[in-house]
Amino acid sequence: MHTWTHLSDHLSVYHGAGNVGVVRDGDRLLVIDPSDDVGPVDTALVTHYHRDGMAELPAAARLLAPAAEAHLIADAAAYWAAPVAQWHAYYYRPFFLVPAVSRPVAGTLADGDTLTWGAARVTALATPGHTDGSLSYLVEVDGRRVLFTGDLLYAPGQVWDLYSLQQGGSYPEGDVWDYHGFLGARAALSASLQRVAAAGAELLVPAHGMLMPEPDAAVQCTLARLDDLYRNYASTSALHHYMPFLLTGLPDSDTWGATEAPPDWLTHDGTTWTLHSASGAVFVMDCGSAYVVESLQRAGDPVEGLWITHYHDDHVDGVPAFQAAFPCPLHADASAAAVIADPAAWRLPALSPAVCRVDHVTTHGESWTWREYTLTAYHFPGQTRYHGGLLVEGRGRRLFFVGDSFAPSGMDDYCPLNRNPLGAGTGFDACLTLLQQLRPDGLLNPHVDAIFTFSDTQLGTMRERLAARVALLAALSPWPVPDIALDPYWARLHPFAQRIQHGNIAEIAVVITNSTDQPLPVRAKWSSGDGAVTGVIPPGTEGRLPLPAPPMPAGQHVLTADLVVGERRLPRFIECLLLVE
Ligand SMILES: [Zn+2]
Ligand SMILES: [Zn+2]
Repeated sequence: MHTWTHLSDHLSVYHGAGNVGVVRDGDRLLVIDPSDDVGPVDTALVTHYHRDGMAELPAAARLLAPAAEAHLIADAAAYWAAPVAQWHAYYYRPFFLVPAVSRPVAGTLADGDTLTWGAARVTALATPGHTDGSLSYLVEVDGRRVLFTGDLLYAPGQVWDLYSLQQGGSYPEGDVWDYHGFLGARAALSASLQRVAAAGAELLVPAHGMLMPEPDAAVQCTLARLDDLYRNYASTSALHHYMPFLLTGLPDSDTWGATEAPPDWLTHDGTTWTLHSASGAVFVMDCGSAYVVESLQRAGDPVEGLWITHYHDDHVDGVPAFQAAFPCPLHADASAAAVIADPAAWRLPALSPAVCRVDHVTTHGESWTWREYTLTAYHFPGQTRYHGGLLVEGRGRRLFFVGDSFAPSGMDDYCPLNRNPLGAGTGFDACLTLLQQLRPDGLLNPHVDAIFTFSDTQLGTMRERLAARVALLAALSPWPVPDIALDPYWARLHPFAQRIQHGNIAEIAVVITNSTDQPLPVRAKWSSGDGAVTGVIPPGTEGRLPLPAPPMPAGQHVLTADLVVGERRLPRFIECLLLVE
């Protein structure tokens, strides 16, 4: 549905895929965040570099962009050419919605800059949060003061997404990657929201969302909800164990588990746990570095198996060297196997380019015997949904290897790019339920020397906090389910990267995770206009719609697709890389 809100003789807002501000000077149009087609445009201002906000920017229009982000538009190709766009990604500013192709930026704007457009005066306000260089634009015309705030907030009490707020920083204790900074941009966001509330605007116009005639109330409600969410998350976080300084000023975790030293038949080196048999043979869990291979070779014990918990580089970087050194099977849960066997197909945090040969794809609850131990593999979608857990029974113990999903202080859920599905019976709730059922007498994590255990009460507390979190996220998020605000990969193209020979067709699928309880109608098309697909994704499933790539000349291409999901249009929302040789 496309409608206009006329604010004054010279100022209107077009409501399409997003809200496009339109300032008229005779026949000349200045637009703000042209996510949709409003007619011939002379000049466009964008609040931030995200490509969805310039989806309908005519090639001939003059583009003015925030000074701090102009390079991401003018030289987008440099961003995509860098390996970090796909591999070993721990920093996400920028990461999302980087333009697919470079386009010229005619001028830049920074805090306090003004420009005159006919009867209107436009003032730029630095409002970082959604992105580091985001600007808001105050338009004063016809006696009105209207503030275009980009994606800083969506509606009173709501933000467009939460994953854009992932941010680390410099602390006295050391530098923190964006990877560890769940809602790390909230201080910047809070300062920006206070600035917006104090700007004397009578109306806020977000790039996505509702017009807000009461800026102060909209801002205060958003800040209060973000604070509630952060407190919920901090109360059960693995970060109390790893980086407690990130959580100062908050109550400590009340899910600290008891710890004990491991038995002498388990040894820990780097991120590898090694299980020793009385026979002298060993079974290895995770291999993040070639030095683990060297130390296994030095020890000289027969190496009879490798189990991989998940795809992160610090767990798989050493696998190619391991597989060259030891002719033994690699076991992995089907979810983890799909990533480690074909990493180029994915764009996930901390992704390793190491290709693993998976010999044994395990199914949930599958047991086998290794020496005097019974091993049982589980799908264990905690730290990421592509993750397994392993129950080791023998020598009088029942020990569960949780991978990175839990640390002694609680859940490892600080990086939503890993994909942490919400709700009863899925994600961490499924992991906690499994631990309640299996009742292992110790948990082991590749980054923790000690065995730890959670009491039944602590497991129950984590499940309760997760359930409460779903409600907090639902209040903060405009989507039918909060997973969409938390999970940047709810819609994606698969494979993310592939090479083809010139003249061949690249097979690509639009993959949609429908975590709602309703069928989800989806329409996707290449942003270039070359091909479309429609389908309905059944509730609670991940559905695939084939969208073969258009023929492309030799070279590297970033392809983007436009989505219509339910009622919502999402231009240039998902991307993939295609190398044509
Ligand atoms: Zn944005
Ligand atoms: Zn990990």
